[in-house]
Amino acid sequence: MQYRVKLFLATIVIFLLVGCFPSNDLARQEYHLQGNTMGTTYNIKVVGENLNAGKLKQDIDVALKQLNQEMSTYIADSELSLFNKSSSPEPVEVSNGLARVVKEAIRLGKLSDGALDVTVGPLVNLWGFGPGYRPETVPSDELLLATKAKVGLDKLTFDNGLLSKSTPELYVDLSTIAKGYGVDLVAELIEANGIHNYLVEIGGEMRLKGFKHTGELWHVAIEKPLSNERAVQQIIVPKDNAVATSGDYRIYFEAEGQRFSHIIDPNTGKPINHKLVSVTVIHPSSMTADGLSTAMMVMGEERALTFAEENDLAVYIIAKTDHGFVEQSTVKFMQYLK
Ligand code: ADP
Ligand code: MG
Repeated sequence: MQYRVKLFLATIVIFLLVGCFPSNDLARQEYHLQGNTMGTTYNIKVVGENLNAGKLKQDIDVALKQLNQEMSTYIADSELSLFNKSSSPEPVEVSNGLARVVKEAIRLGKLSDGALDVTVGPLVNLWGFGPGYRPETVPSDELLLATKAKVGLDKLTFDNGLLSKSTPELYVDLSTIAKGYGVDLVAELIEANGIHNYLVEIGGEMRLKGFKHTGELWHVAIEKPLSNERAVQQIIVPKDNAVATSGDYRIYFEAEGQRFSHIIDPNTGKPINHKLVSVTVIHPSSMTADGLSTAMMVMGEERALTFAEENDLAVYIIAKTDHGFVEQSTVKFMQYLK
């Protein structure tokens, strides 16, 4: 997983608007849990009476540690790293967590017609965004073709709880949906503790439920797409849903006068290069929202909007034009606009 990259990825971080209303229920409190995971931070707010927040945080840290041990590509002996290192085509049994994320990655890969492709790692590394080296120049067409040949979801099979690869070099990188999965996992853990009013955020991926301790609904702000300043573009009220934003204007490298994104179009094998600057998705699952936002980022403005309408998704996009930034949202998204 590109955890280190994420460290620098301030993204268009969706940040919280902290309420400043007096509490009408004094027994109900908001507990704030903070920590680190996946090379980034987490912020969790849970609302309740006399909660054992310390114990809850401990349980969350254990769950997130396990998640990392299952699917981080920065941990050399993680379950996923061992699968990546192996050149055997033999199917292997995988943990429930890894199975869940791989299954969703394959489903979203098919749904997006290959825009989201978790085997894209060799191309990510080729362009210098992975754990490997950072190239000074643009890779040659030859190298690009050779690397593209190692990539493709058709080379990865998940069947009956067994994972297998049909080419020895296949490299699976789940970083594009793992944070979202982490958010879902934490939300489920919180619910299992009988808490139904909460907000979970890991590195910009967010899921909310119920109300703040003040009795109000949670509000979320989408940042303006500026790399040198933080300002609010749009306030949304996502209700009991997850919110994910994909945007690439904060993380890129420049070569030969062109900006290169950290998101690769698996069709071309090259970093995306179009006018779409961010895609925000509201969906019950954080993992799904996370994957869909990146998939639509790959698609570009026109295809993304068609895809969103066809799949009845709540999507908000910001595109760059000659006259500044232009926002568009699908009909389904409009109910969440403040
Ligand atoms: P964003 O938050 O901008 O959507 P994500 O963290 O969701 O970004 O995913 C970006 C990361 O996923 C990249 O750093 C790269 O490792 C990997 N990646 C790049 N292109 C793709 C793609 N087409 N499909 C799946 N993963 C990708
Ligand atoms: Mg994403």
